[in-house]
Amino acid sequence: MASEIKVKVGREMSTEERTNIDRSKMAVLHPMPPKKSVEGQYPYSDYVICPYCGAGGYAWLESEYYVTVYCCCCPEIFWA
Ligand SMILES: [Zn+2]
Repeated sequence: MASEIKVKVGREMSTEERTNIDRSKMAVLHPMPPKKSVEGQYPYSDYVICPYCGAGGYAWLESEYYVTVYCCCCPEIFWA
């Protein structure tokens, strides 16, 4: 049985959207999966692809709405 790999590609953010983001709630794209020491505090960590540079990483995402993610490689910000 093959293991399922879920890859989420982020959505590019417009200039207008960038001016209205809440930077205090911004997630950061990490190259490695985060440690589970804060389990329960955040919804879940998922693997995301940056729409600008194509780099993949892990970020804390919400299942109900898009989260602002800061890419550690470009650096750009996008929705995921
Ligand atoms: Zn990037």
